[in-house]
Amino acid sequence: MSVYRRSADHHLMRDINRALILNHLRQDAPQSRAELAERTGLTRSTVSSLVDELIAANLVHETGIAPSRGGRRGTLLALNPAGGCAIGVAITSDQIVVLLTDFVAHPRWQRQMALLDADAGQVIGQVEALIDEALAYNAAHEAAPLLGIGLATPGLVRVRDGTLRTATNLRWRDIPFQARWEARFGVPVRVGNEASIAALGEHYFGAGAGFSDFLYLELSARAIGAGIFVEGRLYQGVDGYAGEVGHMVVDPAGPACSCGRCGCWEAVLRQVCDLAPLRDALAAGMPSSLGDPTRLTRAMVLSAAEAGDALARGYVERLLNVLVIGIANLVNVFNPQRVVLGGSLGMLLAPFLPALQSALAAQITLPAESAPDVVLAQIASNPSALGAVALVLDEIMSEPLPGAIRQSWP
Ligand SMILES: [Zn+2]
Repeated sequence: MSVYRRSADHHLMRDINRALILNHLRQDAPQSRAELAERTGLTRSTVSSLVDELIAANLVHETGIAPSRGGRRGTLLALNPAGGCAIGVAITSDQIVVLLTDFVAHPRWQRQMALLDADAGQVIGQVEALIDEALAYNAAHEAAPLLGIGLATPGLVRVRDGTLRTATNLRWRDIPFQARWEARFGVPVRVGNEASIAALGEHYFGAGAGFSDFLYLELSARAIGAGIFVEGRLYQGVDGYAGEVGHMVVDPAGPACSCGRCGCWEAVLRQVCDLAPLRDALAAGMPSSLGDPTRLTRAMVLSAAEAGDALARGYVERLLNVLVIGIANLVNVFNPQRVVLGGSLGMLLAPFLPALQSALAAQITLPAESAPDVVLAQIASNPSALGAVALVLDEIMSEPLPGAIRQSWP
């Protein structure tokens, strides 16, 4: 037990234990009080009193009677879906998604809208109007208490106060989302970078479930974002900017990057992802099954490579080499159990995972048995919106950190 834990005051300890029970029920339900005590290591009387509190708060409900285990049969408990609702908002470079879920993250209402204008004021106005719609829907139906709003946004987010510092693609700066929305909607608001938030979503609902240490990489042909899970928590760094892996320099003599330096991982990836050299080769009459160079897409090239087309295979080989260089660096630093690939490019890589995994095993300096497995993300549609919901739930279900002050309890 850490010094922090020993010195934690009574209230904090109750918060921690309450979160522990909720989190156990989130992962495995239904369970009886006796099972919860066994699995959490808390005493039966602590479990009973916390469960009473959670039932009174409507977050947990009784769902039936446990099978006999030799003694008195216990009542089974589960999270109460109607105990609250959460709103997850995702802003990406081309769309806005607003998702309303119940307390177990099942979607109740969703809207998405193309992001036509990058004007921050206008976009924020659209998002707020959609949140109002979600709240109106909730009020007209189950009227579950709103537990919080999570926002996933591109760019650098100062997590401490939920301020978007910069989002280069959107040309946004210093937007205090958390302060603005807490004042407007009166609930806790949490903000994070979209790749970190998608990683949180994978941790709660996808390929990261059950893994304490994993890397999530959001790969597109233009950028690489990451979410880093260390010891069961999203690693955010002191200000919240951790995970900018795309700007790790992998070749100082490489191409110029949007950040002003040369040879960043994502700049090198952008170069090998470029389809122009392939188009030129096809136009020059290189033998290939790829067909019309003017209609070429990356997905076509990857599937031609899978079918054995030599030109396409060369392209994929260069692409995998670049990915492996960066992933190997990260694996050497973080020693994860698993690497999860998401994003529009990542999701195309299914046929090449075995090749990627063996190239990776050859490049890392860790012992071979510590090579992580490499898998695809499981949340295929709007991962950061569902992740933003997880951000709200995480506030309630994860143990508070030293010095953390819970803003509100339902
Ligand atoms: Zn860069």
